[in-house]
Amino acid sequence: MDNKYNGWANYATWRIQLEIVDDYVHMLTNEIAEGQYDDWDWSDVADVADTIRNYVDEVITQDIPNDSLALSYAYAFLSDVDWYELATHAQEYWEENAKQFTACDNCEAPLEIIEGSAPGYCNDCEKLMEVKL
Ligand SMILES: [Zn+2]
Repeated sequence: MDNKYNGWANYATWRIQLEIVDDYVHMLTNEIAEGQYDDWDWSDVADVADTIRNYVDEVITQDIPNDSLALSYAYAFLSDVDWYELATHAQEYWEENAKQFTACDNCEAPLEIIEGSAPGYCNDCEKLMEVKL
């Protein structure tokens, strides 16, 4: 029998992905593209799983008082989440998306790399360069 939920390991994994992790991964993708994590290697699935788990933990527990029944229920829900599945999904997303960007050499705006060639400057900066020449 297939216990998956909408293609994810289970209901908790699906909901956490949908409501928290998806936005977080997109936010990280933009930050990676902006060069904020030059030294961050996302190839280790355990590291990515920890990063995602810590973020979700923060989001969920920030509004719940410590030692409350609600917090204990929240942790019971989180204990069902397949963090490795979420991490693997994030890695695949970054492989496809985060590496397609570089930063403008002048203003550091994210630039898409098209077919392996980096443009160097964004359109605005390129115009400025032309004016200077
Ligand atoms: Zn620029």
